[in-house]
Amino acid sequence: MGIKVAKFGGSSLADENQFRKVKAIIEADPDRRYIVPSAPGKRFSEDIKITDMLYRCYDLAKKGENFDEDFALIEKRYNDIIAALSLTLSLADDFSEIKSAMRAKVGRDYAASRGEYLNGKILAEYLGYEFIDAAEVIFFDENGKYAAEHTDYILSERLKNVERAVIPGFYGISANDTIKTFSRGGSDITGAIVAKAAKADLYENWTDVSGFLCADPRIVKNPRPIGIITYRELRELSYMGATVLHEEAIFPVKSAGIPINIRNTNRPEDCGTMIVASVSTLHEEENPNVITGIAGKKNFSVITLEKDRMNEEVGFGRRVLEVLERHKICFEHMPSGIDTMSVVVDDLAFTKDKSEIIKDLFEETGADSIDVESGIALVAVAGHGMKNIRGTAAKIFTALAEANINIRMIDQGSSELNIIIGVNNDDFEESIRTIYAAFEN
Ligand code: ASP
Repeated sequence: MGIKVAKFGGSSLADENQFRKVKAIIEADPDRRYIVPSAPGKRFSEDIKITDMLYRCYDLAKKGENFDEDFALIEKRYNDIIAALSLTLSLADDFSEIKSAMRAKVGRDYAASRGEYLNGKILAEYLGYEFIDAAEVIFFDENGKYAAEHTDYILSERLKNVERAVIPGFYGISANDTIKTFSRGGSDITGAIVAKAAKADLYENWTDVSGFLCADPRIVKNPRPIGIITYRELRELSYMGATVLHEEAIFPVKSAGIPINIRNTNRPEDCGTMIVASVSTLHEEENPNVITGIAGKKNFSVITLEKDRMNEEVGFGRRVLEVLERHKICFEHMPSGIDTMSVVVDDLAFTKDKSEIIKDLFEETGADSIDVESGIALVAVAGHGMKNIRGTAAKIFTALAEANINIRMIDQGSSELNIIIGVNNDDFEESIRTIYAAFEN
């Protein structure tokens, strides 16, 4: 028997009907042994997530204000699910414990974590699975950082003796014995941690979309879904990844070589997107698309420094980056020529201290000239197939030229996994549509 870890997001567990779908999914495959739930999410677009309701209660409690009314709404949501599923479970004791803890101001993270905790209890009861409190198996260190090794040891030992369990997402216990959460959307991280500890064959992340699309549907009409993508490509396309999967969720499973499958609870018949370490030739034959996806973002500045014989000067790049570091500016890309070096930075962060930064760059690098172009959008084209097929770059550039789009910058990683193109902000959407059309039609 294999092992699959299945994480279900908030919208997958928003009400009793969603719970029913989740149970059917789990029971359809006996390998789905470890289940990681989020707190109930939105049932409709104006609805409020339980996590947000809990934050609100805590904020009121902290100010010493009455939060009974708000808390009653939370109780009702859980009680409605319990009643509709005809469970005998009662959360009354938990509710009163949580309320008094909030009054005692035990922490905002604690308050938020109860969403997953309570939902986990209901789901465990409904499935007949053991409930494992994440506070017993997920750890943070003295600095508040996730303690990967310790967690992996304790959790894997624990799971060895448990055939099937529900482990709530989003939180764990910190070194000083208080509850701590990951950042928002963090149940994805818990799922990945459990998958690693369970030595799972697959980490399934069930949400409300059938995986990643190859381009933003607000820009491209009906973009092709991505069947298979590598962890690295996903990072390259991180501009579009964030809302489907928490960025941090990749790391635990990546190091263990466990693939992630993004699936849709409302359309379980869809295969979703597989995120894998590398794409075998077999997969490439099945999936001949040269490009995996196109994503991008607006509002960058390109700082170009020019200096004669830059290529012979040791430490030039370091001096440039040190200036940026001092001004707390991250850089996105760094295309360079023999005597030029460009650094692409976020417009907003850069313009704040622009004149100071330029002054420092002149002083510390002795550059002959420094040129800044703002209002640049970056478009990333990722594709593991690119390296095997000639002319991919030519196809992109020809298509853009034919569409009259001026390319301001090009950066291609030597792995040939991706090409980054800088265009004017105004040309952003059209660039994505043009590149998409060049490959997909
Ligand atoms: N419930 C938490 C949130 O809303 C964590 C999660 O859903 O992953 O951010």
